[in-house]
Amino acid sequence: MSSSNDDATTDRQKLRDTEAVEHFRQYLRTPAVHPNPNYDESVKFLIKQADEIGLRHRTYEYFKGKPILVLTWTGLEPQLPSVLFNNHMDLVSVDEKEWLHKPFDADIDEKGDIHARGAQDMKSTSIQYLEAIRRLKQDGVQLRRTVHLSFMPDEEIGGEHGMKAFAPSADFKNLNVGFAVDEAFPNEDDVIKIANGEKTTWQFRVHCPGQPGHGSQLFDNTAGEKVQILLDKFYSYRKAMVEKLKDPLVEESDVVSINLTQIQGGVQVNVIPDELILTFDCRLPINTNINEWEKTLKTWCKDAGDDLWIEYLQKNPLSAVTTLDDNNIYWVAFKKAANEINLKLKVMTLVGVTDIRHVRALGVPAIGFSAIYNTPNREHKDNEFLNVDIFLKGIEIYYNLIPAIANA
Ligand SMILES: [Zn+2]
Repeated sequence: MSSSNDDATTDRQKLRDTEAVEHFRQYLRTPAVHPNPNYDESVKFLIKQADEIGLRHRTYEYFKGKPILVLTWTGLEPQLPSVLFNNHMDLVSVDEKEWLHKPFDADIDEKGDIHARGAQDMKSTSIQYLEAIRRLKQDGVQLRRTVHLSFMPDEEIGGEHGMKAFAPSADFKNLNVGFAVDEAFPNEDDVIKIANGEKTTWQFRVHCPGQPGHGSQLFDNTAGEKVQILLDKFYSYRKAMVEKLKDPLVEESDVVSINLTQIQGGVQVNVIPDELILTFDCRLPINTNINEWEKTLKTWCKDAGDDLWIEYLQKNPLSAVTTLDDNNIYWVAFKKAANEINLKLKVMTLVGVTDIRHVRALGVPAIGFSAIYNTPNREHKDNEFLNVDIFLKGIEIYYNLIPAIANA
């Protein structure tokens, strides 16, 4: 037998859940899709939510058509460093014919799966932040620290007109951020991965000059021979990394990834070219000795010939890493709250990059995670979806984590 009080609570919860799902689906229907994202509808929708919830809002537009929206919930001690929950409004493109449901209708099927671009990356998180705060405020909760939610444009193309410009600005400094939270990726099992750093990208072309001549000749010092030696070096190294990955304790973020992505050179079928160019994409773990790595690359080139040279397209320093230990009060609070709601956490490095690297680069501690679990990762793929139960669980997760961090 349940009391009428319990019934009232259940009814209220049901109503909150129904509304949250409705807001999620409405937001999914305001797509800002690459290559030409239009952010107007998304911003309009978000400001409407902010007004309803009672959050202050401010829009910055450093570049035309690239709005940065910041929503603020002022804390009881606003002089304390604030907590930032970041997310992005833009979406990667879709190939509509590959989708079983229209990618911007946000259909919900009989299993409760909501289908749309952005269902995982990352409009679910955006709405989970908002709905968690809506509920906290409805429940009369007040927080010590100020909480900011930042909604960024152009994350998917590197944040040049978004976070990369915003993080070093005076406007960002005024937010007085002490700790930041962003996305990671959906977790296929029930362990939530916490990213405290990201791999570093190096992309470069290796120029392999050689003796040109008639295609019928067998002379020395041809570009092709050098390419062969070089590819042997790169690919035996790559093979060693693949072998390492077979150890279940080794993550993709622990090893160097290296791939040949382009080959250029040659003008005619019967002419040996005077140069062949190989382009590589390479991602380095956070503990890489960067000088040693550069030396290795040089040695491999030297082994293939005296005249090979490297043209760097991207040669980034190692990304900043957030130390997650007992000295980080936000992390301690986060971990405790996560423990109370039985979340399994695992700290790791992200293989890809997100906007938060620009914040970490300022020395602000930051983590990335996604409250999506037991869900196949369909980010950037067709038929992206999120189950309604997982979506709603995510709201509960933030409902517990936001006050914990903001009261740290
Ligand atoms: Zn994302």
